[in-house]
Amino acid sequence: SVEPAVHRHPAHQFVGGKVPLGLKRKGLRVLVTGGAGFVGSHLVDRLVERGDSVIVVDNLFTGRKENVVHHFGNPNFEMIRHDVVEPILLEVDQIYHLACPASPVHYKYNPTNVVGTLNMLGLAKRINARFLLTSTSEVYGDPLQHPQVETYWGNVNPIGVRSCYDEGKRTAETLTMDYHRGANLEVRIARIFNTYGPRMCIDDGRVVSNFVAQALRKEPLTVYGDGKQTRSFQYVSDLVEGLMRLMQGEHVGPFNLGNPGEFTMLELAKVVQDTIDPNAKIEFRPNTQDDPHKRKPDISRAKELLGWEPKIPLHKGLPLMVTDFRKRIFGDQESAAT
Ligand code: NAD
Ligand code: UDP
Ligand code: UDP
Repeated sequence: SVEPAVHRHPAHQFVGGKVPLGLKRKGLRVLVTGGAGFVGSHLVDRLVERGDSVIVVDNLFTGRKENVVHHFGNPNFEMIRHDVVEPILLEVDQIYHLACPASPVHYKYNPTNVVGTLNMLGLAKRINARFLLTSTSEVYGDPLQHPQVETYWGNVNPIGVRSCYDEGKRTAETLTMDYHRGANLEVRIARIFNTYGPRMCIDDGRVVSNFVAQALRKEPLTVYGDGKQTRSFQYVSDLVEGLMRLMQGEHVGPFNLGNPGEFTMLELAKVVQDTIDPNAKIEFRPNTQDDPHKRKPDISRAKELLGWEPKIPLHKGLPLMVTDFRKRIFGDQESAAT
């Protein structure tokens, strides 16, 4: 992958020439909330590799210590078990705010998107850190415009079963822009489209992880509804590259970060069959309420202003995830044998 333009002493990046303490050190001090999760842990790998001092704040609600355990013992890495719904005092240069129960199975339970984001913005304001919010394509709801551009305001049901997530993220975006305008905070907003890859939660109900786990376990692939609804699937390393470019760049956003390759759920099932088991059966189930009918990012803005576009198509990325899932589902021995 292409190394983003990283400035190790980025004094020029801070508003009004205010240089936070700590810039004399070698790398940046970076906080990753939700850093023990799927996306966060891959981001942490890249930041540590580049020489930053990384602090992960995670309550391990859906994240796992295993995702970051390989950094334990590294003096440039620290993990704090903490719920961002509670205030916290830290001193860092940049904050990647990912903490959020991100799958439909989990996100109903938690005010993280609003209260957690407010706390992390308050923290960023106090220490004058640059703040990046990981928002979501869900802010477009069941979109009436296709593909989705950042200027589209969306079509969201405010009282539906998904609204805790959709509206939570929309509120998080609002808060982020309010702190930007009101407190002159440096902010970045990414709208992330469906992302998959190694370390994804196995049983959190998202479609790629469901299909892969089902095919490996010789269970039928559960297609919801008629399977004609579409999503566009991005490999995790592409996303991480986009997030780092966004943080280092000069543009607030919001930026769509996603792979424009669009698939129906039946097409996705076919790719999974081709990759894992051509004999895997398909079983239709009733769809969930308010399920968006189609979703595909327009990424012109990220291409132009961040010089970013995804590199890994589904048929290349999926096998990398399957290797990881095989290990986690069957253990190392069996995966070595297969
Ligand atoms: P994930 O569930 O693997 O990671 C989220 C992490 O946040 C977990 O480690 C979890 O333990 C932690 N967390 C949750 N609530 C917390 C709290 N209150 N305090 C501290 N930590 C908390 O999910 P992910 O897929 O890695 O998602 C990361 C971010 O990207 C989320 O903000 C999500 O909304 C966003 N996003 C992801 C996708 C995707 O397809 N993966 C799509 C759009 C947006
Ligand atoms: N906050 C935090 N850490 C900090 C600074 C603030 O967790 O270092 C929290 C704080 O507890 C508050 C939120 O961030 O709940 C918003 O803080 P801000 O100062 O913007 O608002 P105020 O406290 O003035 O309402
Ligand atoms: N889906 C499916 N089978 C599953 C899980 C999900 O067909 O086992 C469908 C779901 O109805 C939706 C799409 O896959 O249309 C993507 O669902 P997911 O929860 O992964 O992501 P999101 O809806 O948040 O984009």
